[in-house]
Amino acid sequence: MNQDLNANREPDLPSYTTTPVDDIPAVRGRLKDVFKTGRTRPIQFRKQQLLALAYLIKDNIPLFQRALASDLRRSDTETFVLEIGGTLTEAVNAYHNVAKWSKPERAPWSLNWFATKPTIRKEPKGVVLIISPFNYPVWLLLRPLVAAIAAGNACVLKPSELTPAFSALIAELVPKYLDPESFAVINGAIPETTKAGQLQWDHILYTGGSRVASIVLAAAAKTLSPVTTELGGKSPAVIDPSCDLKLTARRLIWGKVANAGQTCIAPDYALVPKGFVDQFVQACKDVLKDFYPEGAESSDSFCRIVSASHFARIKGLLDRTDGQIVFGGSTNEEKKFIEPTLVTGVNGDDSLMGEEIFGPVLPIIEVDDVDEAIKFINDRDHPLALYVFSPNSAFKSKVIENTQSGTVVINDTMIQAAAEGLPFGGIGPSGSGYTSGKFAFDMFTHLRSTLDNPGIMDYIMKFRYPPYNEKKRKLFTTFMFPSLPARTAAGGNAAPTG
Ligand code: NAD
Repeated sequence: MNQDLNANREPDLPSYTTTPVDDIPAVRGRLKDVFKTGRTRPIQFRKQQLLALAYLIKDNIPLFQRALASDLRRSDTETFVLEIGGTLTEAVNAYHNVAKWSKPERAPWSLNWFATKPTIRKEPKGVVLIISPFNYPVWLLLRPLVAAIAAGNACVLKPSELTPAFSALIAELVPKYLDPESFAVINGAIPETTKAGQLQWDHILYTGGSRVASIVLAAAAKTLSPVTTELGGKSPAVIDPSCDLKLTARRLIWGKVANAGQTCIAPDYALVPKGFVDQFVQACKDVLKDFYPEGAESSDSFCRIVSASHFARIKGLLDRTDGQIVFGGSTNEEKKFIEPTLVTGVNGDDSLMGEEIFGPVLPIIEVDDVDEAIKFINDRDHPLALYVFSPNSAFKSKVIENTQSGTVVINDTMIQAAAEGLPFGGIGPSGSGYTSGKFAFDMFTHLRSTLDNPGIMDYIMKFRYPPYNEKKRKLFTTFMFPSLPARTAAGGNAAPTG
């Protein structure tokens, strides 16, 4: 047992213990054997487990809240609003839709193939591993578990060691509520995750930072385990001076201070036109005073930074900035507190612009106009989220059409993670694949093509057998060779010359 990780634990929460590294291959092996028996496949089993998972969450809301208060000093309301409700909704949606999602699909009718009954079977991939970060442990561990169960997989969960109270709780609850033969929790940090990563999995979902993602991907390459990555990055907010300033400031600052900025889709920095910065800063200050009238440090509504090293990292970024701190800036190492902070006069090469901040610090970058904002974004990695604050359709379209990002939200922040029916995922260095609703079900599902070719089809398809001759070639051309639209049909290039 790691004594340090249990230091702040409340008495009625279970203690954190790490899984012995040598036991990890056996956990996977046991689940592999169970999966082969077909136990996790029946829709009835999946529905039963989805409901059990929904009740695991619902019955234990106060314990989750206490665990996250212990791990992050997060308010119960924030835990409820940002994690619990959305995860329950996903579980209930999957429960209602799993039968429909899992139904085999017929391929579109085609003269050549209809007799072979071409069908897409939606099959579970097998035993999947979900590695999650510290910042929204319920949402980022249990929401993908919903999808893994719905898709008929067995699953190993690896929560973060940075939230020991939550991770201990989930290790206790999973075998109580879910089928212990099919679902398991591995707890631990680098040695345990490294061991797990060395094993072959039928799919790995890794949510976390890009540095560790490279390690996980490199290990998975050795066993050819497929991986989906949900990463982070620097998500910009582009401000149009004609925006509704009060609303913009309220929604932008909420995205920055919820969970003390430790959110993958938090607005990382704001691109604000010159001449509008003072008004923008004043509006942000007003909002911060409204949110924390007694000051953030003594407010029950403001979280702490998860660990001493994350605290030191964010403080280091602030200490090294060449910008001007125009609000906040105070820190308390013992409490791992960083005050919501606004910094102006920040350049692209500032300490605050080198990496994802993942804390309650908002750098404000002055730009001449929307074109410069777009260039600034395009000169950097594709972000996970992009925010545009504007009432103007031309402004919104210009930003959206000339940039790339995992998601875009107009006139708000963070709501894309919870919006039902939308894919959630990054692009390029902010991740690959989608982890919401039916899209997550698809991630954990193998589309198995099946054909059943009756003997009679050889009257038509005999041309494939040797010996080859002209008659067979003509038969192939008649049945299988597509006729192409004329070159000019799509208004495209003329025939190549020369
Ligand atoms: P992290 O990458 O440090 O840790 C994530 C997981 O990886 C943990 O379970 C941890 O135990 C494990 N891990 C850590 N070091 C490892 C190593 N060397 N080898 C193998 N495994 C290792 O991430 P974090 O600090 O917990 O979370 C913050 C990051 O997660 C941010 O970059 C954030 O943007 C990102 N994030 C992304 C999403 C998303 O949905 N795209 C959601 C939340 C967080």
